[in-house]
Amino acid sequence: MTLRTLDSLGALSGRRVVVRCDLNVPLNAGVITDDGRIRASLPTLHRLLDAGASVTVVSHLGRPDGTPDERYSLRPVAARLGELLEQEVAFGADAGAAVTLRENLRFDPRETSKDAGERRAYAEELAAGADAFVSDGFGVVHRKQASVYELAQVLPSAAGLLIAAELGVLERLTTDPAKPYTVVLGGSKVSDKLGVIDHLLPRVDTLLIGGGMLFTFLAAQGHAVGKSLLERDQLDVVREYLTRAETLGVRIVLPTDVVVADAFAADARSETVAADGIEGTAFGADAIGLDIGPATAQTFAEAIAASRTVFWNGPMGVFEFPAFAAGTKRVAEALTEVDGLSVVGGGDSAAAVRALGFGEDRFGHISTGGGASLEFLEGERLPGLEVLGWEGES
Ligand code: ADP
Ligand code: MG
Repeated sequence: MTLRTLDSLGALSGRRVVVRCDLNVPLNAGVITDDGRIRASLPTLHRLLDAGASVTVVSHLGRPDGTPDERYSLRPVAARLGELLEQEVAFGADAGAAVTLRENLRFDPRETSKDAGERRAYAEELAAGADAFVSDGFGVVHRKQASVYELAQVLPSAAGLLIAAELGVLERLTTDPAKPYTVVLGGSKVSDKLGVIDHLLPRVDTLLIGGGMLFTFLAAQGHAVGKSLLERDQLDVVREYLTRAETLGVRIVLPTDVVVADAFAADARSETVAADGIEGTAFGADAIGLDIGPATAQTFAEAIAASRTVFWNGPMGVFEFPAFAAGTKRVAEALTEVDGLSVVGGGDSAAAVRALGFGEDRFGHISTGGGASLEFLEGERLPGLEVLGWEGES
């Protein structure tokens, strides 16, 4: 690993450093509902401030259309960042304060422009008056965007402590992981996650499939899944994984029971059924699978707790509805019992463990970057890391 670290920037006293953080936190009517990403950005900011630098923090929030939109303002984040740093955080324009948070980078269309020249011009604007750039938004390193890629070329640049920590953990998952190695996959972005299976199959011992993607697996085995999440165009891909897993001796564990509901709603009527009997309840072909069943949760928990390395991405069910959170809770609990390395990756998975009341320190690592960590595990090249000197796996 040849990632340029903070030390490579030399003495920082009296210098102004632009820091790219990922402060893309969930907001509900302007109130931050989970400040995990703000907290994760603190070590680097403290390190720079302690070294005598002044910092200008830049970040995106949500997906505004390249124009200012008050709903996506970082103003509430500036207030929370100030509380956590116990220091005043100026918001908006650089006014010479020790810490400034600029407004949402994506209020300017050049941040995510496909045109390298436009991104470069924006990066040069962001770099004006600064002496160095620290990239610490791990959640965006898989994006070739102005503040992630071009900005690192315009100024002397290095990776922050969060990126270094995230990368260290991900490397342990891909290079010589302690065995047994179990990967737990769930969530709703099925096709996004199938690539991880492809790359990890030769490396893992056990793959546990829950969440929305389990129904594509069940359907691939010929079972009816009612109105559950299903990606028909992935059925052949999934069948090929099942065959390859058998050849490689990898255990893919599919649910034996699931919780189905008559509607996608918190107060829906629900029932636990065998995985091959989803349409066999009073809900018939309208049944929607919203969680793994208790027998499956137990099987998954045992496999997890007996592992030395576990990577979990994607909730087991629609945990936002308490009636369908049990599978996710059981899996989270099992991860806390792992004697070895347990990693939670993915924005919603991380939010789930916090929302369900698990302390962060009960896990080996909670990744701040869902897409970035998945792409890393898929063996993809990550432009935001390469630009910092990273050369990838050998
Ligand atoms: P992450 O952000 O951790 O990578 P995803 O974004 O892929 O995870 O998926 C998170 C979402 O998946 C949650 O909002 C959850 O409600 C949803 N989900 C989990 N199981 C199901 C299911 N059976 N049907 C529909 N959605 C599901
Ligand atoms: Mg998500």
